[in-house]
Amino acid sequence: MPIAPATASAARFRELLDPERVIEHPLERKLYARDGSITEGKCGLVVLPETRDEVCRCVQMASELRLAVVPRGSGTGLAGGAVPLDDAVVISLARMNRILDIEPEVPCASVEPGVLNLDISMAVSHLGLHYAPDPSSQAACSIGGNVATNSGGPHCLAYGVTAQHVLGLEMVTADGEVLELGGPAPDPPGFDLRGLAVGGEGTLGLVTKVCVRLTRNPPEVRTMLLDFDSVTAGAATVGGIIAAGVVPAAMEMMDQKMNVAVEAFVGAGLPVDAATVLLVEVDGTPAQIAAEAALVDAVGRKHGAREVRVAADEAERQLLWKARKSAFGAVARVAPNYYLHDCVVPRTHLVGVLEEIGNIAERHDLVIMNVFHAGDGNLHPLIAFDRRDVKQVERVHAAGKEIIEACMAVGGVLSGEHGIGLEKRDFMSLQFGEVDLRAQADARCAFDPEGLLNPLKVLPAGSRCGEVALSRDSLPPGTWL
Ligand SMILES: Cc1cc2nc3c(=O)[nH]c(=O)nc-3n(C[C@H](O)[C@H](O)[C@H](O)COP(=O)(O)OP(=O)(O)OC[C@H]3O[C@@H](n4cnc5c(N)ncnc54)[C@H](O)[C@@H]3O)c2cc1C
Repeated sequence: MPIAPATASAARFRELLDPERVIEHPLERKLYARDGSITEGKCGLVVLPETRDEVCRCVQMASELRLAVVPRGSGTGLAGGAVPLDDAVVISLARMNRILDIEPEVPCASVEPGVLNLDISMAVSHLGLHYAPDPSSQAACSIGGNVATNSGGPHCLAYGVTAQHVLGLEMVTADGEVLELGGPAPDPPGFDLRGLAVGGEGTLGLVTKVCVRLTRNPPEVRTMLLDFDSVTAGAATVGGIIAAGVVPAAMEMMDQKMNVAVEAFVGAGLPVDAATVLLVEVDGTPAQIAAEAALVDAVGRKHGAREVRVAADEAERQLLWKARKSAFGAVARVAPNYYLHDCVVPRTHLVGVLEEIGNIAERHDLVIMNVFHAGDGNLHPLIAFDRRDVKQVERVHAAGKEIIEACMAVGGVLSGEHGIGLEKRDFMSLQFGEVDLRAQADARCAFDPEGLLNPLKVLPAGSRCGEVALSRDSLPPGTWL
């Protein structure tokens, strides 16, 4: 049976929710047809449930009417995961934004999916605790979105990505039932379905509650900015620091083009004449910090660091982090649009891949700016472009594909944290063989046999049950900006 458009179903959802929580105005629907990526879909209807039971009823209604369902958090995703296609119904979890319970002795917190990442840390700071994964979008993105994409962030180098900080989940399945996955016990029995659900990108169910691990604040933190005359020297320093036995709390890199844009935006005193800068943070006891900072300083200078600036106080530290976390926004000073991939490459290949990205930019006559989680080799080459220039957009796509191929050629992986969504699903076969893809499609079908949850996402066209109903080999025309 084909999947139906949700446009004509508003009245049915008004039987379930207050009328103002069912959005059908075309302009508002258009807003929900985008996320932070360069894809745009067609949104049939938006519903805003406020409780788990309302989510169950909305999903049951969608199933009864055979409507595709797209779960949505804050819409900051960079892979098109929350972009609805074929007039799907968007279920926004943004209004489920309560912190339900904090247990300092575990320590953990139970939160609704629409709670913003940063709000968790703010709510527990008086207890000397925080939520460790810190995407640069943490002031805007939701914990539900973080779980669905298995988000990372600068401090995930030492502390681990979202999967390591989700103890338990509550998830509404495709037929509107409620599943409890995992929990605060250290080794929950049964299959680890929680592990499967983290990174599910809304294709396995709708997350309605998350039990997150909280992390004790370190006694002390030191933040350093090292600048170099060459990208090679900066990248060699990254490998050198890890080889010397120090895993910093964070180790981020920005190239010159990015520094110039960020400095004009934030004014953090970044050395705009440097080829690259490394932002390194170490944390721990004062003795540990002193030893690790000395080592970072020594390795950096050995590889030619021109200066090692140490943040003198918390205000300066915050300013340096503001600079790093404003990088994507700063691209707006260069061009109105950006397109990025977040492949991960082995650290030993950082230099070669960065050089190749430079060559790709030159070949396609494009501006590519680099800012990335250097410690774990998670690249973020941002192609700055203007979507109104059709010819340029063609070159952007060609360059994006070549960047992915260059990363895969050295043993890299497709995504370190942004997920696959729409943007990368057709590249999945570069990383996975037929058997791997089939196993993933089988797991997905076990949760959603009708293929109604976030169709056409993550797995290449035709690889999942129910998808034939859409009878599409490729994405609808106009999906790419
Ligand atoms: C400036 C900027 C900086 C960024 N920096 C980082 C970074 O450092 N690290 C990083 O990992 N990401 C980063 N991102 C990407 C993005 O913020 C993350 O992917 C984030 O986790 C998305 O959360 P969201 O609430 O916006 O989710 P959305 O964009 O709304 O959705 C993302 C995916 O999750 C699914 N989803 C959302 N909520 C639920 C739910 N409750 N149940 C089931 N599925 C759900 C959606 O269907 C979609 O597939 C950045 C984005 C921007 C714009």
